[in-house]
Amino acid sequence: MSEKRRHVGPLTNLGPLVDTHAHLQDERLRAELPAILARARAVGVHQVVAIGITAEDSAEVVAIAAEHPGVFAAVGYQPNGLIDATEDDWRRIVELAGAPKVVAIGETGLDRHWDRTPFPLQQEWFRRHLELARDRDLPVVVHCRDCEADVAAALADFAPVRGVLHSFNGTRDQAEAFLGLGLHISFAGMLTFKNKAMDALREVAPSIPIDRLLVETDSPYLSPEPRRGRTNEPMNVAWTARKLAQVRDMPEADLARAVAANARELFRLPAAPA
Ligand SMILES: [Zn+2]
Repeated sequence: MSEKRRHVGPLTNLGPLVDTHAHLQDERLRAELPAILARARAVGVHQVVAIGITAEDSAEVVAIAAEHPGVFAAVGYQPNGLIDATEDDWRRIVELAGAPKVVAIGETGLDRHWDRTPFPLQQEWFRRHLELARDRDLPVVVHCRDCEADVAAALADFAPVRGVLHSFNGTRDQAEAFLGLGLHISFAGMLTFKNKAMDALREVAPSIPIDRLLVETDSPYLSPEPRRGRTNEPMNVAWTARKLAQVRDMPEADLARAVAANARELFRLPAAPA
């Protein structure tokens, strides 16, 4: 797909949006959270799912959700840090899964890009998270880097899986495999990057069924164009939604309405900020 150069106007309110993946506990965001959430609301981003990456961090996102209307929590231990995880950490995550405003288990998954944590250990913890999500009837937030086949194989034992493949950056075949296992597909700022390499992602995006699509920031990482290089924050999910509308050739407001409805259904969020 050749991308036409077009003028990018200022970010306007696209209607109700949900940032389905933000690390609000990160020190780059935490201190400024009230202002960050106000900026998000100003462009229509009324709900945010804050994602834990360790046990301690998961306790923090639960606390942040308790403090802030419109913020919900996902609790889990991200695969790259598992080398430091203890059985006490797991007991803590299981306990946190029952806390108020916890709407998902994760992030969890597998990662062959960073090799700090042995792969069998990642697989064992991924399975634990999938069992916990199934037992609590919560969706699962899945991280996958350079190991799509391994992730699909692990998910197959639990299919259909209610959840999301977050920050998707794979091929059309890989997307189809994850969709077939029950997952939603979530796009982050990479969809907006001008690199040639991301043209492939922009070609995959229109093939995802509209009722299985989500958007996210992965704040503070992956800031979309035109804010690339700065600390990412939830309001910027509107840039990714706008790009997604463009590559799918549909009105921005319709795209925003659809992905917000998908997020509320998957995470069972209330219709209005809570
Ligand atoms: Zn993340």
